[in-house]
Amino acid sequence: MSALVPPLLPPPDADELIGLSNRFGSDPMFVRAGGGNSSVKVDGVLWIKPSGVPLATLAADDLVPLDRARLLALLEQDAATPPGEGDPVMAIAAAARLAEAHGRRPSVELLFHALLPQRLVLHTHPVLVNAVTCNSDGPALAERVFGDRAVWVPYTDPGLPLARAILDARRAHEARTGLVAPPVTLLGNHGLIVGGETAAEIAAQTAWLVSAIEAEIHARPAGELIGAAVASPIAPLDQAFMSAIASGLGPRAVVFDPHPLASSFAGTGPGRAFMADGPLIPDQIVYTGSWPLVLDIEALAAERPAELAAARVAEFEAERGVAPIVTVVPGLGLFATGASERQAETARDVYLDMLRVGEAALRLGAVRHLTETERMFIESWEAEAYRKQVAATG
Ligand SMILES: [Zn+2]
Repeated sequence: MSALVPPLLPPPDADELIGLSNRFGSDPMFVRAGGGNSSVKVDGVLWIKPSGVPLATLAADDLVPLDRARLLALLEQDAATPPGEGDPVMAIAAAARLAEAHGRRPSVELLFHALLPQRLVLHTHPVLVNAVTCNSDGPALAERVFGDRAVWVPYTDPGLPLARAILDARRAHEARTGLVAPPVTLLGNHGLIVGGETAAEIAAQTAWLVSAIEAEIHARPAGELIGAAVASPIAPLDQAFMSAIASGLGPRAVVFDPHPLASSFAGTGPGRAFMADGPLIPDQIVYTGSWPLVLDIEALAAERPAELAAARVAEFEAERGVAPIVTVVPGLGLFATGASERQAETARDVYLDMLRVGEAALRLGAVRHLTETERMFIESWEAEAYRKQVAATG
């Protein structure tokens, strides 16, 4: 194990990265909580956001410096070696780390930051972009809307496998088109990566991408996805009824949101199928659990809501092995629970995003959910558990 050199000072170039990161990190249409990451390359050093630190509050001295050449060499070698015990990305990061960074780990997505040629790289999980990446016709849709201006990478387990899939997709794109691969990468069931020599370039590419998708979505009518799918027997925001449900959901912090996506879309046939078919992206699993509990408002209104909610929570736990984090009551709204109110709010926000993505993806075609294998990998991934823990405590 090599000795660590004394801490490096963040480069002056970091300011441009920090501005970009804070701007996109503060926009909920791009990231939630600790999601997303960013980096800048300076003189062979990759300065990257640590895991668990939000883009919104990223500061220059949070950045973790890594030896880029070493990361690239490790990326190319041992392609056939299956991951053993522990996370191979963390071993690679430890080998390439140039300084202690307040005990922070670099982002688990560090390898794709290293391999992309642009000076600045921003990776986010945008709602609108995920309407395309979480589509079963995603590659064809991306081809039609973006042409050769984006590289499509099918869903791949995070870390080393994802970095290698991105490398392969860029090489295939270059072989097919005879052109240098574009700075925009679409990650199936995950999100977006945009590289650029300047922050302005990244912002411009992102704005073009988002407006192209917006135009595509707005050209399709919502049809059966909206409307009064569930006639509510309860006056909106009946406090006693809501409190009773909340108390049935357990002793944790509970927040409620009457958002139309939860009260209306979730009650439609496509909305119910969407919730039952499992998670869309890794962030959903991390922050909301893989499935919501869905409660029937008629049944809640006809019985004792607290007892009924508690019984359904117990059934859910027996079936899934975990307690529900999000509970959707079509016709009423969405409840989210957490160890703290902030954690419950994050779960609520992330699940509402998933309903937004689902509704938009259904307008564009059909939803592609994560497969069982993909879902189970994330559920048990040590690095995600670490990110969750840092996000909750940091
Ligand atoms: Zn990501």
